[in-house]
Amino acid sequence: MCSRACATRASNRESTSDHLPSPPAGSVFRVTEYPPTPPAAPFQFEPQLYTPPPLPPVQPRHRRLALVLSLAIGIPVLLLAGGAVVVVLALMGTFAPPAPPQLSALDEQRIQAEVVERSDLLAQLDTARSQYRTDLDNWTNTATWAADDLAGTATPSASVANPGGDAMPGDDPHGRAFLDSIGATDVTVLFEAGSENCGYAGTGGEDGYVYAGGCFNGAYPNTLFMAWDPGAEDLVWSIFVHEAMHWYQNENYLQVEYLADIAGIDRGSYTERWEADASCRAVYVHGIPLEEYVGSSSPCTIDGWYEGFIEDYLAGLGAKVAEPDPAAYEVAEASRP
Ligand SMILES: [Zn+2]
Repeated sequence: MCSRACATRASNRESTSDHLPSPPAGSVFRVTEYPPTPPAAPFQFEPQLYTPPPLPPVQPRHRRLALVLSLAIGIPVLLLAGGAVVVVLALMGTFAPPAPPQLSALDEQRIQAEVVERSDLLAQLDTARSQYRTDLDNWTNTATWAADDLAGTATPSASVANPGGDAMPGDDPHGRAFLDSIGATDVTVLFEAGSENCGYAGTGGEDGYVYAGGCFNGAYPNTLFMAWDPGAEDLVWSIFVHEAMHWYQNENYLQVEYLADIAGIDRGSYTERWEADASCRAVYVHGIPLEEYVGSSSPCTIDGWYEGFIEDYLAGLGAKVAEPDPAAYEVAEASRP
């Protein structure tokens, strides 16, 4: 009577029996068959436990139309009202600049006079400022030019031998000790009778005269040219010192020369004073007898010569020989603590 379902169940029992205690040997094992369990009834909610909320009532069409009309009319009205307020405020002058204060005729005259005066002052300030900047540029540039010139190391070559020989008469045949005493330690004497020696035009005594001449050329800041005819030895030293004084002028007043040139002062207009300054410096500072230059092309004709004479002379011609002081360009006097 056993079916397939029965055989399957028996198999399950056999599998479960692995966990059951084995019956004692010799005992009888019996399988009890139970009736099948009936299936559970399907779950059902309890009636009336959940009630969905009621849906909102549907508005009638005439109410929605009223809302649309209200918005369509109300917003433009509000905008028009706001614009009207702005227009009224504008007409009342709320946004206009404040009216100028009412001045009397006398006050207006005073103000106009002050404006005219201030306008003139501004023009003066502009002129003074421009002049100061120009003068400062000139000062700076000329200082640079002079420094560059003095740093030059060009050395000329001898072209025409000195008729008087290669050494000066006296105790200082190359002027070394004298040059060192005035700070011209890098300066040497070139005995040269050629064109580079601008001061010598000797003839060797052919015309019955003997000459001594020297030259200083700024293109060679460390060279003195000297030449003389045989028989003119007694003239040599004073000429040499005169040329050494040109070196000194160049060292100390070269910038002043540039400033004079900027001021439109022609070099030829003060050459005579420049030469006299060199001879007088030799006389006043180094004790060369005044008479030594009387018959020369560069006599000392500056009575009461002093250091700085040539600078003052060029300043008198219009050269601006001092570094510009901003205070000198002030239009109005300033009060400083
Ligand atoms: Zn000279």
